[in-house]
Amino acid sequence: MSERIREKLNILADAAKYDVSCSSSGGTRKNDNKGLGDSHASGICHTYTEDGRCVSLLKILLTNHCIFDCAFCVSRKSNDIERAAFTVEEVVSLTINFYRRNFIEGLFLSSGIFKNADFTMERLLRVVKKLRLEERFNGYIHLKTIPGASEELIREAGLYADRMSINLEMPTESGLKLLAPEKNHEEVKKPLAVVQRQLIQLKDEKKLFKSTPTFVPAGQSTQMVIGATPETDKDIMHTAAAFYKDFSLKRVYYSGYIPISNDNRLPVLGSQPPLIRENRLYQTDWLMRFYGFHVNELLNEANPHLDIDIDPKLSWALRNLQYFPVDINVAAYKMILRIPGIGVSSAKKIVQARKFGKLRIDQLKKIGVAYNRAKHFITCADTPYQLKDYQGTQIKTFILAESQSKYLKHDVQQLILF
Ligand code: SF4
Repeated sequence: MSERIREKLNILADAAKYDVSCSSSGGTRKNDNKGLGDSHASGICHTYTEDGRCVSLLKILLTNHCIFDCAFCVSRKSNDIERAAFTVEEVVSLTINFYRRNFIEGLFLSSGIFKNADFTMERLLRVVKKLRLEERFNGYIHLKTIPGASEELIREAGLYADRMSINLEMPTESGLKLLAPEKNHEEVKKPLAVVQRQLIQLKDEKKLFKSTPTFVPAGQSTQMVIGATPETDKDIMHTAAAFYKDFSLKRVYYSGYIPISNDNRLPVLGSQPPLIRENRLYQTDWLMRFYGFHVNELLNEANPHLDIDIDPKLSWALRNLQYFPVDINVAAYKMILRIPGIGVSSAKKIVQARKFGKLRIDQLKKIGVAYNRAKHFITCADTPYQLKDYQGTQIKTFILAESQSKYLKHDVQQLILF
């Protein structure tokens, strides 16, 4: 690899690390020349395919030049940073070389915007087309759509990419206006709508014609930056719910803002990225997608923010004690899913197992129920005594005390071992 390509790779892989919409990037671990290998926070990231496989991707920008000046973005035009741009051929050759050497299983390609949206999108399209048609590349490709790019280019790109995504950036239009006055959510919705329409159309055609081409088989996703603007968790999750519904998204990613510039519209440099908040938002997202919760149940006027010290499912249960205790042996599957300490897989097993007799505590534990948490919300065949009439705050204290003592026990074990 030439020195210049290596330089570009350093700049453009580093600039891409702020985009979390392909799941994960690694940490940095330096080799002191006595060990084996080292790792960088940028360059290779991981994502999950439809069948659950974890694949490693070369994660880069085509360029970090940009005509826009979004205050939250490291590539904004007013930021005094080193700039670089790959040619189409360079991205293709890097991908193929890394793929052949088994370093990666695919490519995550995004870009700053040079000249205009179509000029940039057209280059991204040339990369994926060349990879698929000339190099016969069958690895995974996640392609970022450029806001404002024309419908034809987006539709054509979808024929070669596995997943496409476009960042919403700020959860609300007003938040976006504050930090990126040149952008708006409509520009994001249009490409999402194009992809969705095409997905529906080709799905129908596939029923009639076997030769219908594949189009974005891994679906589309978006990302929101959290904590840069003053939206509540309620605002954020309502936006996510609307986008899941309107554009059949596979995923919404929540990226805690990492302060990168001195700008009085943004959190001050040195403030901590909101990592726990980010985690709670992912848990809420999960509850909406797999547990049948509506966003209004978890976040509303009375509770516009998620609890930081407990997860959103427990928080909901403590605010809705009128639904509990739930009798495990007769309750509907949907209600069992709402019990803290019971996940999707345990709920399914409970419904299966109770066909053969009433379930007891030891069976629930074997099934995988986190009984110490669930016991405050359930009855089963051998519930020891009438469940006490505790208040939500008391139950929360018991659960927090128990989970803390669990970690304390682990600490003690570590001390004995070493
Ligand atoms: S358009 Fe994209 S790359 Fe350019 S400054 Fe805004 S967020 Fe950054």
